[in-house]
Amino acid sequence: MFLTISTTGIPERPATDLGFLLHKHPGKAQAFSTSHGTAHVFYPEASAERCTAALLLEVDPVALVRRGQGKGRGGAPDAALAQYVNDRPYAASSLLAVALSAVFGSALNGRCAARPELPEQVRPLRVEIPVLPARGGAELVRRLFGPLGWTGVEVTAVPLDERFPEWGDSRYVRLVLEGELKLSDALRQLYVLLPVLDDAKHYWVALDEVDKLLRAGDGWLAAHPDHELITSRYLARQGHLTRNAMDRLELVRLAEADGREVEEVDNAVDENSDTEEKPVPLAARRREAILAALRAAGAARVLDLGCGQGQLVQALLKDVSFTEIVGVDVSVRALGFAAKRLRLDRLGERQSERVRLLQGSLAYTDKRLAGYDAAVLSEVIEHLDLPRLPALEHAVFGAARPRTVLVTTPNVEYNVRWESLPAGHVRHGDHRFEWTRAEFRAWAAEVARRHGYAVAFVPVGDDDPEVGPPTQMAVFTQTGTTATTTETPKEGEAA
Ligand code: SAH
Repeated sequence: MFLTISTTGIPERPATDLGFLLHKHPGKAQAFSTSHGTAHVFYPEASAERCTAALLLEVDPVALVRRGQGKGRGGAPDAALAQYVNDRPYAASSLLAVALSAVFGSALNGRCAARPELPEQVRPLRVEIPVLPARGGAELVRRLFGPLGWTGVEVTAVPLDERFPEWGDSRYVRLVLEGELKLSDALRQLYVLLPVLDDAKHYWVALDEVDKLLRAGDGWLAAHPDHELITSRYLARQGHLTRNAMDRLELVRLAEADGREVEEVDNAVDENSDTEEKPVPLAARRREAILAALRAAGAARVLDLGCGQGQLVQALLKDVSFTEIVGVDVSVRALGFAAKRLRLDRLGERQSERVRLLQGSLAYTDKRLAGYDAAVLSEVIEHLDLPRLPALEHAVFGAARPRTVLVTTPNVEYNVRWESLPAGHVRHGDHRFEWTRAEFRAWAAEVARRHGYAVAFVPVGDDDPEVGPPTQMAVFTQTGTTATTTETPKEGEAA
């Protein structure tokens, strides 16, 4: 089992930096004992201009069997194992991926204590795997590595037997990747895609494999067109693990999309300004409108539901009349950004008592959210599939029941005013729907009626005489005598 990684150098960035990056001295041949056998690392060439590191894994069949990995699920002898040890011992299988992470762990994680700047460098890289088992053939190999930033993905089928070309191709290919990448990105791709292509279930897959997959896939897997195939194969087609991973990748996409959304919307408004003055971005105007409505309602304890990366929470913190601020989001990643933005770890005691971030889904009732003065749902409802909306409605208006609820959402009629937006498109890929003013008002009126609230509508952004404002906001105020309850009020009860 064999792969080589090469780089070229320039005087200020010698190729032998590869030795630092891999934590393996180019002048030595080294051997490491790993769980599946002995891994050898050596450098066939090592000059300032060109440096190649080779990783060779000698599989130890006894070690494999002793670790219980020579059995398939259910205890039957694993045909795949026989293949590894007898058939093509030099094929770069998933065992090589395990060795890769064992031997080049720091490089894979982008760490280099001796030269901390090195892992961040994008370098010319060439990875060659002479014999790569590829279920799905050359075509799948191209599909998997194609979108990952390589300029060259060369895949050549390996014939079953060179002496008898008529026998056709084997299930192995030769792979050469060339491009300018960070070494850690290249290694993390290989760590995931070698076992995916191998597709042999020789190892036991447990929940921590999901974590490993997401760590190694950080920055590339969520957006990969074949992320579902990659996830399912990597997790040995274990349905529940695949679903767990797919859900978490979905959150990554949501969080990444949120970051983009603010920028996109702001740019769109900038472009359409015909005044000299730089207009206030729409996201900022939305926050101003929300703050004004909260102050008008006299709210002190406020929930920011679907708080995303915490911009509104940050604005609320600046006003001492808000004594308790709770940001809630389903995305752990978004909450991580929010915690960083708010410097939660560095807030003084006074401030840190005022603010909290909670992870939770608004599609479920949550006792922690009961009893607040106000809740804000800023640009959140359009991220839920329409059939999930009644669940959110119940959780917020039926169970949490804050005195005031503010809901903002895009006004789809306004989209024609944005030149950058093609006709008939929503503003953002993750919006499941965008409503006209009439649609939003109809929904809000119905929610208010069912749950004992009065509702008023406030335009946010320039209110166009024809198509209305870019953002529409509904201000719900509890009217009813409806007691705080975790049950959905029955028809009529709410009035
Ligand atoms: N309120 C912020 C972010 C809006 S983006 C702002 O106005 O800028 C929508 C946010 O809703 C995302 O952070 C997303 O993770 C969150 N979200 C989507 N569905 C959710 C759900 N079911 N429960 C909780 N949060 C959800």
